[in-house]
Amino acid sequence: MSGSGAGRRVPLKCARTRSRMPIDEKTSKTLKDLGIKTPEAIGDLFAEVVAALDDERRALLARGAGNESERGRRVKELRDRWLARKGGLVALIDEHWLKKAAKDLKPAVGRAFNELRQRAKCVDTEGLLRDFPLQGAGAKQGDLAFAAATPAAPGADASVKTRPDLTLPGFRRTLGSVHPVTQVMREIEDIFLGLGFAIESGPEIESVYYNFDALNIPESHPARDDWDTIYVNPETLLRTHTSPVQIRAMEKHGAPLYIICPGKAYRHDNPDSTHATMFHQVEGLAVDTDITFADLKGTLDYFARKFFGDKIKTNFSPSFFPFTEPSGELAISCVFCGGKGCRVCKESGWVEVMGCGMVHPEVLRHGGIDPERYSGWAFGLGVERFAMMKYDINDIQLFQQSDIRFLEQF
Ligand SMILES: [Zn+2]
Repeated sequence: MSGSGAGRRVPLKCARTRSRMPIDEKTSKTLKDLGIKTPEAIGDLFAEVVAALDDERRALLARGAGNESERGRRVKELRDRWLARKGGLVALIDEHWLKKAAKDLKPAVGRAFNELRQRAKCVDTEGLLRDFPLQGAGAKQGDLAFAAATPAAPGADASVKTRPDLTLPGFRRTLGSVHPVTQVMREIEDIFLGLGFAIESGPEIESVYYNFDALNIPESHPARDDWDTIYVNPETLLRTHTSPVQIRAMEKHGAPLYIICPGKAYRHDNPDSTHATMFHQVEGLAVDTDITFADLKGTLDYFARKFFGDKIKTNFSPSFFPFTEPSGELAISCVFCGGKGCRVCKESGWVEVMGCGMVHPEVLRHGGIDPERYSGWAFGLGVERFAMMKYDINDIQLFQQSDIRFLEQF
């Protein structure tokens, strides 16, 4: 913006006619010695320096060079005269004018000095070698090769631009990858798709009816408490599980029905190594005539071995959920100790991985399905928990911290 500000403010001609003392001599004196006391005088002085710089550069270009080595030598001379760290004119101006300037003049000198330094960069070797005409034919080609082959002079100012080195490696944009939670979710989906289940999804902002009432979760149930649920208003909430999708799917498709519902769920939990306010679930629902608990056991046993490996053993134990009757917990033999007992499985050899059960007749009725004719089973699992077990991750928070060092391991 301000690169040529000083030059524009004070016409070059005027500055030049005023100067008697050569620029080299002036740069060896302080501003006080030169009798410069006002910002205007500083502007004039720097305009004079810029004019001298431009003149010298123009003179060099006008002169032409006999051959490449001569050209290189002249360019280097001009460059060193202005930009050498020791004894270069810019360095001298820094030392004698800027550093020794009176306090009240320092801002003006600093500004003018920065403009000059920017300007002095046009003395860069590369630019001059490009513009500096060689005498004789065939110069163009040699020109380029010479410029590319010329290394920066030792001790060269780092700010002096050089021609880009095309042999250097480029900037590599790292490719993203699929998030571990998504990977695990897809893996679970694949297993059930292979069994003939369909994928259903539903809204994350859900009504109290679909989230609780239709699932036979009574008013008095602790899950409905403000402390466990993120309410938008008394009738609407962020779904606490993906189970509402089961009701919606029953209403939409009727029976028979074989679906899984992967998606996000929300709880009013304090974040710690096993709790997060947002997490992922996959729920499954099978509704048909003559569905029994044996179907549930067989399917989940197959799923667990497919996901965790053939060596896994499964164990069903009774539990309670309002939306299933009977209800159970599926435990698998500990993947870390193989069932011998360790810290993860609390020495029991078993790890509970999901809740399941036969769909409560009341829930079927809410979905518009006749419980006298149809029966069903359902399960629900936490995807983060599965991912943590699969990859031996000990903190659920890691999934949401977007730390590349963590994510690139998957
Ligand atoms: Zn264990």
